[in-house]
Amino acid sequence: MTRKILVLPGDGIGPEITAQASRILAACQARGLDVEVEEGLVGGSAYDEHGEPLPAVTLDKAKAADAILLGAVGGPKWDKLEDLAKRPEKGLLGLRKNLGLFGNLRPAITYPQLASASSLKPELVAGLDIMIVRELTGGIYFGQPRGIEVRNGERVGFNTYVYSESEIERIGRVAFEMAQKRGKKLCSVDKANVLEVTILWREVMERLAPEYPDVELSHMYVDNAAMQLVRAPKQFDVMVTGNMFGDILSDAAAMLTGSIGMLPSASLNESGQGMYEPCHGSAPDIAGQNVANPLATILSVAMMLRYSLDEPALAQRIEDAVGKVLDDGLRTADIASEGTRTVSTSEMGDAVLRAF
Ligand code: ATP
Ligand code: MG
Repeated sequence: MTRKILVLPGDGIGPEITAQASRILAACQARGLDVEVEEGLVGGSAYDEHGEPLPAVTLDKAKAADAILLGAVGGPKWDKLEDLAKRPEKGLLGLRKNLGLFGNLRPAITYPQLASASSLKPELVAGLDIMIVRELTGGIYFGQPRGIEVRNGERVGFNTYVYSESEIERIGRVAFEMAQKRGKKLCSVDKANVLEVTILWREVMERLAPEYPDVELSHMYVDNAAMQLVRAPKQFDVMVTGNMFGDILSDAAAMLTGSIGMLPSASLNESGQGMYEPCHGSAPDIAGQNVANPLATILSVAMMLRYSLDEPALAQRIEDAVGKVLDDGLRTADIASEGTRTVSTSEMGDAVLRAF
């Protein structure tokens, strides 16, 4: 059956980097991948055209797609918009919410060729391959009540950290299944010494564990997990945590790899439909210059093939091609170092295509 892919280039460097990823997608089609590829507008570019960051026509296309490839949204042009609901970032949040994309997969992989660019000593990160599974649609970012109000004559701000058992269970299952496919180790991160919501979190993870007897489950408090990530990151395989802890830990893990320009991500819903995007933003400072690193977006296509389209062999081909190009010493400016050759966005795309 022909599956549908929606490409949403977005703003800033989004169009340049998704153009390179689309070429790889086309190469996959030439190798037999049976997909139909459509494009749509989201973010600032959608606001300019339709007056809103997530037009109904885009949302309809997104709902009908098996997978979405997103570039990035936002930029200074739209930062002054008074109406927060019109901001480009709301387009992205709207997609996550409307599609129920609760499972955020953020790999942190240090390519040996780039280990010297890490914030840590190369020997601590060479060969690093962690998968952070972050809950994306619940937790303190969405809990009610929330607000700022006057109590006893002064203003107080408050948010509520809530997870239901079913929310914990479904992200837990994503993480256990991920661990089964990888190194069979799952570390659940919480703050169960202080927060009741995470006592429940820990309980549910323990309850699931017997269903995945081949996976070794451990628990870690988030403060310790942050420390361990920068002390000895290779001890981790899969980590699972809530929305806020995951936000923070995955950014820290990203820096271990040396470059935000190399990191893909996936956000999945219950039916396996997914949105795939680079971890970085729209990089308005370098937009339109053909210098941005397209590899995070190209690697996002590999994740799409693996997690939404069930094409692991093609995914591996893309990842191998990226490794080969790095072996050959080609680098975009963000990952350049002594002895490497600096290439443009499109030249990097050319090179990956040749190696594919
Ligand atoms: P957002 O709020 O959307 O995350 P941001 O401003 O926080 O945006 P980025 O847009 O990711 O973050 O940019 C941070 C820095 O990283 C910028 O200097 C940008 O040029 C650089 N950068 C981001 N992505 C890339 C890329 N693919 N290639 C090269 N440099 C990049
Ligand atoms: Mg940012």
